[in-house]
Amino acid sequence: MKSYDIKSMTFVELETELSDKNLPAYRIKQLYEWLHKNSAVSYDAMSNLPQELRIYFEKNYPLFGCKIMNKQVSQLDETVKYLFELHDGETIESVLMKYKYGYTLCISTQVGCKAGCIFCATGTSGLIRNLMPSEMLSQIYRAQTDMDVRISNVVLMGMGEPLHNYGNVIRFLELVTDLGGLNISMRNITLSTCGIVPAIYMLLENRFQLTLSVSLHAPNNEIRTRLMPINSQYPLEELLVACKEYSLKTSRRISFEYALFKGVNDTEECAKQLAKILKGMHCHLNLIPANSVVGSTCTGSDTKAIKAFKDILEEKQLNVTVRRTLGSDIDASCGQLRRRITET
Ligand code: SAH
Ligand code: SF4
Repeated sequence: MKSYDIKSMTFVELETELSDKNLPAYRIKQLYEWLHKNSAVSYDAMSNLPQELRIYFEKNYPLFGCKIMNKQVSQLDETVKYLFELHDGETIESVLMKYKYGYTLCISTQVGCKAGCIFCATGTSGLIRNLMPSEMLSQIYRAQTDMDVRISNVVLMGMGEPLHNYGNVIRFLELVTDLGGLNISMRNITLSTCGIVPAIYMLLENRFQLTLSVSLHAPNNEIRTRLMPINSQYPLEELLVACKEYSLKTSRRISFEYALFKGVNDTEECAKQLAKILKGMHCHLNLIPANSVVGSTCTGSDTKAIKAFKDILEEKQLNVTVRRTLGSDIDASCGQLRRRITET
């Protein structure tokens, strides 16, 4: 985080940062509310701050956020996909989904990703850079203002690996759940990871009540390493021990994601192995009809194979659902988000 990135600062940090200005306490509160409650995009909009203060902020604290570059609305289910431009011209995507219980925004945490899963569009460009907390927050602020709705749920499941941007993600979580800001409940936040084991241990120390979603996609190391190279660094056994520990310490049920790829991880044998490794865990398994990604050799399993896979797991008493695919006509589904390369 850049020290002058005012939107990534907590209220207490803001007080410290501006202490030499001798501002009355209510001014700092006003500024914080403009940034985090009213989603102001410029100091100009902060109408109850004195003009000279606005000029001072403008000069010393540039606002980092994101600008809507493109917006696509699904004709199938009203899912909205945003392409946002960041201050340095990089681009990221976010997806807004409407559910019975409210609006959920799927946000990006990095530009690109270094994990290199072979089935994922984001991974193809490698890691460009981490997002700052302000840039993660701004995806919510912009979508909320644009649609004039309240976003009640956030999933860190867009572009990037959140646990590879640990410090900024933790700061984002603090800010987004802050009473003085959006005040989104930690229970309404899901963080999805490909399984960065040391960071899972770090995360559990916070005892956050968020949902940890782990992208499993394979029942053994052989297949998992083929699909997700990160598995050679953090093998399945170590990952599962970390997950058990996480669920024990936080009393939260772990959510496992399993995308089904034809002939790769969707066999009867795979289903049985999966049931075995998850036996006795406080978890929920989400089967994902895998989405096709240009340039990837993996193709998704058909409906019949998914049903057969699910039946085996249910027989073994696992808590399992098949995830509904949203926004498929606008490439807004899992793994289809990619950085747009703007040609000049
Ligand atoms: N890096 C994190 C979060 C972003 S990816 C993670 O990997 O968990 C969000 C989810 O989309 C992950 O579960 C990921 O495995 C899944 N995904 C990626 N490509 C996919 C594809 N082609 N089809 C279905 N799911 C995919
Ligand atoms: Fe990165 Fe997640 Fe895509 Fe893997 S699936 S490359 S971890 S964004």
